[in-house]
Amino acid sequence: MFRKTVWRRCVSDVIHSHQTRALNTTILILREFGPVGFLLQEDEDSKQYKVCLGDPHTCTCPTFNKEKDLCQHICWILIRKFRLPRDHEYCFQYGLAERQIQELLQGLHVTKTTSHSDRCASGPSCPEPDEDDRCVRQKAIENQDLCPICQEDLLLKKLPVTYCRFSCGNNIHISCMKVWADHQMKLNSCGVLKCPLCREDFGTLKQLNLEVRNSANVFTYYERECLEKHLGVVCNGCRVCPVVGKCFKCTECSYFHLCETCFRRHAHPQHSFMCRTKRGHSWQSVSEETQMMDKHTMDRSVSAVTCDVVPNHVMKSLPKVRVRKESKLLHPGVQCRICLSRFQTAQNVRSLPCKHKFHTECIDALIQKSNCCPLDFHVIYNPLTWNIRVGRSQSSPAPPGVAQSKRTDPHISEFILPGIGLQVQRGHASSVLRPGTRVSVCEGPSSVKSLSQRLQDLYIHSSHIEPFSRKTVMKHGLQRPREEQTKPSH
Ligand SMILES: [Zn+2]
Ligand SMILES: [Zn+2]
Ligand SMILES: [Zn+2]
Ligand SMILES: [Zn+2]
Ligand SMILES: [Zn+2]
Ligand SMILES: [Zn+2]
Ligand SMILES: [Zn+2]
Repeated sequence: MFRKTVWRRCVSDVIHSHQTRALNTTILILREFGPVGFLLQEDEDSKQYKVCLGDPHTCTCPTFNKEKDLCQHICWILIRKFRLPRDHEYCFQYGLAERQIQELLQGLHVTKTTSHSDRCASGPSCPEPDEDDRCVRQKAIENQDLCPICQEDLLLKKLPVTYCRFSCGNNIHISCMKVWADHQMKLNSCGVLKCPLCREDFGTLKQLNLEVRNSANVFTYYERECLEKHLGVVCNGCRVCPVVGKCFKCTECSYFHLCETCFRRHAHPQHSFMCRTKRGHSWQSVSEETQMMDKHTMDRSVSAVTCDVVPNHVMKSLPKVRVRKESKLLHPGVQCRICLSRFQTAQNVRSLPCKHKFHTECIDALIQKSNCCPLDFHVIYNPLTWNIRVGRSQSSPAPPGVAQSKRTDPHISEFILPGIGLQVQRGHASSVLRPGTRVSVCEGPSSVKSLSQRLQDLYIHSSHIEPFSRKTVMKHGLQRPREEQTKPSH
């Protein structure tokens, strides 16, 4: 086959890094010129670049002009738009011959899963004024459906969507459509937008602007918080909240975290830890030199952390509302960011401590498997703070259980046993107390003696105290309450 450019056997380091950058950058397609020409804009940049596939590929960006080799824009088109695996031989060539480009274009038709389902995602209960006669149904979003402008997976990206109301019913990010619309309006300003997918009429600019405004409200303060703040995570050692920077999680105790300072002080030496620097990222094992573990715990190879979930009674106590006719949740652009469908009257909507709202079915299914909001990774349940939160900032009914009833007791004395697993044996409802949780002991005008008797009813899980002797633990536990008890009598 006749080729103008050299055929490469493997991907170079430079191109590999351009590919990585391309995958980590949000790039929008503003316009297409035939099947292989694209006008691109990076999300945070107003500069626009024109990419043409051919032999060779070209781009108008400074990197391409300097290196005369694949820039991140060309890589992005090949990987995102044409879905080529990054190690595919067509993915790192200077250019492609006509027949190879044909293959690329045909490949697009094969892999593209155009869903012909007529299922309606937005309900008939929310007609849009002055447009409903022209409107088609919004297509249900399925796994792997992409935004045609940024080429990202809609259900994974979790950004609010709009859809082609006048023609094809396909879904597109509201924010992407806004950039696309602004660009189109520069070219012709008739007030009706064209669809980037079907090229027919999409809807009105007025409607889109309304959605842009409303959807801005579904972003919460926490989503913009720096990822190094582990929202909702309390250090079981020093009680700082949120833990910032490195966050350590015990591989055996649920809901047990330490800040870096407490971890270095060996606040919980009996178990090994995993660590992460940014919330929502995966947990990494702590390297051996930093861990400084006891010899016998070091032997155990630990690869995963216990996956915290939201306990059932906590889930039930999260605020839930039924959508009413005049609710703001029905405004265009407002939607559940898990399924990307609009809320409808009489549906149940759950809000999380971070103020995000979802369909109850959508969020309840997720938090049975994890303990954080899918959008900002704000931790939902922590035994150290849960009572306080319910009591103060939430008007929802309190979760049933011992802890709640004890809170109202005026004679509460609390003490903390850092890093020890305890189980309360006596009492009407025995509950397992996780390490470091507050052990509330209801005390009347009783003596130190009765308190220590009660303490003997707390037995300690042997699995938690292997490196310690039971005796030392009990001594620690007794010191603090004794101080508290003796003070008032003087
Ligand atoms: Zn470029
Ligand atoms: Zn998009
Ligand atoms: Zn369309
Ligand atoms: Zn700490
Ligand atoms: Zn532990
Ligand atoms: Zn939903
Ligand atoms: Zn959230």
